[in-house]
Amino acid sequence: LEEQLHGALSRGEFNVLYQPKIDISNNKIVGAEALLRWKNSVLGNVAPSEFIPIAEQTGLIVPLGVYVLTEALKNTRHWKNMYSNEFNIAVNISPRQFRDPGLANSINTAIEQSCIPGKCLELEITEGVLMSGHSYIDKSLKTINDMGITIAMDDFGTGYSSLSYLRKYPFGVIKIDRSFISDITSDQKDRELINATIVMAHALHLKVVAEGVETREQLAYLKDLGCDYAQGYYFNKPISAEALSSLLKDFVTC
Ligand code: C2E
Ligand code: MG
Ligand code: MG
Repeated sequence: LEEQLHGALSRGEFNVLYQPKIDISNNKIVGAEALLRWKNSVLGNVAPSEFIPIAEQTGLIVPLGVYVLTEALKNTRHWKNMYSNEFNIAVNISPRQFRDPGLANSINTAIEQSCIPGKCLELEITEGVLMSGHSYIDKSLKTINDMGITIAMDDFGTGYSSLSYLRKYPFGVIKIDRSFISDITSDQKDRELINATIVMAHALHLKVVAEGVETREQLAYLKDLGCDYAQGYYFNKPISAEALSSLLKDFVTC
């Protein structure tokens, strides 16, 4: 895997898919999450869960991250023009990318080149980014936040779900992990935990996204609990930029 990963970017083996994010109050698409895909001639399609950890270890995630950001912002400019100026794009950033002192600079370059205002970009990080406690993480997050970019806590509920992180860092969004959503209709405990997370987030003026919504029943529970946004197979799987463009076009014309 590592051998094939080297040179894969210059061989054009990567591509970015987009999963729409829906406003639960009116079922409208408000944005999308960029998700990286790799298709290699020897290995075939390789899942992000397999290659991202290796890209992290080898440092290849740094140029890959720039690729995802550039692609996503280029398409976002198009979607903002044709669909809605409010459309926003979420990009995942992993711990190794935060160790790169050039991160804030490359984000700044990417948003300037695409003429997208910072407020239309959301960066999704997991607790893994914050756990090292290094001061440069604080600095990077502050710089990014000062550019108007939203910072989202991804996979909330799975790690330590540390409240001090929510207090210390400038989060704007919490994404509740899919594992909680999948049992929302059958497990009272999961329902209560989701409810408590939403109440806490709203009290802190944070928006809440539910990940991995697969059924109408799950969506109904989330709506009842006052969750703001949802992503999941119930609405759409991650799709190509072209497919998202035609989906958005249908919304504009209907
Ligand atoms: P994530 O950021 O939590 O992304 C959500 C994952 O859940 C995606 O898997 C998505 O395809 C999947 N998903 C969405 N809705 C549903 C659903 O209704 N049911 C089910 N079963 N799954 C759903 P994916 O694309 O395989 O990505 C896995 C992880 O890899 C991501 O988790 C993220 O941590 C990482 N990743 C993906 N793209 C990038 C990237 O460009 N950069 C970095 N650093 N990490 C990435
Ligand atoms: Mg994510
Ligand atoms: Mg997640």
